[in-house]
Amino acid sequence: MKTIGLIGGMSWESTVTYYQVINETVRQQLGGLHSAKILLYSVEFDEIERCQSKGDWEESARILSDAAKRLEIAGADFIVICTNTMHKVAREVRESVSVPLLHIADVTAGKLREAGITVVGLLGTCYTMTQAFYRDVLTDNGIQVLVPGEEEIRRVNDIIFDELCMGIVREASKEALLRAIHQLQSRGAQGVILGCTELGLLVGESDVDLPVFDTALIHAREAALEALREKN
Ligand code: GLU
Repeated sequence: MKTIGLIGGMSWESTVTYYQVINETVRQQLGGLHSAKILLYSVEFDEIERCQSKGDWEESARILSDAAKRLEIAGADFIVICTNTMHKVAREVRESVSVPLLHIADVTAGKLREAGITVVGLLGTCYTMTQAFYRDVLTDNGIQVLVPGEEEIRRVNDIIFDELCMGIVREASKEALLRAIHQLQSRGAQGVILGCTELGLLVGESDVDLPVFDTALIHAREAALEALREKN
């Protein structure tokens, strides 16, 4: 089995999901007492969030690349960045190590293609919803991306940083998120990407009547399956 190198803590609320889902998937695949080999480098999220708000992506790339190098030295066979937003610096992280990086948008695009989705709604942080680094991966896969209007973008972003990343789950925020999803659906979205690893703490498949692509679940499951593939 390969050793998975997780860069987590962004926020730690969703890294818990990764740890659980990776181990559950290995148990489903192998049965018995089997579990995943995981190395976790959990960052100080306040430092990362400051970089994001200042637009200092260079410094955040330095922090995450340093984490990736430490994971590689410790024996990780591949790297998983447990957040959508910080894939903004995926290229720099990838270039800092010689082991592969399992990109969250690549695996999500794969699932959308499998499901035959050509128009998708994207929810996440303001960075993920408005910047090219994430949307381009989807459009390069032939998938049209719809995002909410400006006010909704701000509201969803606030729900992520002011509540979910701090472990706060509010019914009113769930309703706001569901409204945003319905609006995307009425504009033609055939499915919705929960493109922030904390959004699954608020809404799930059973809350929505269109296909939901929860990136934390997809990414974590794919990491587990990758760990079970033959080493090259
Ligand atoms: N976990 C979130 C994401 O998937 C947001 C936290 C962050 O800014 O990294 O984008």
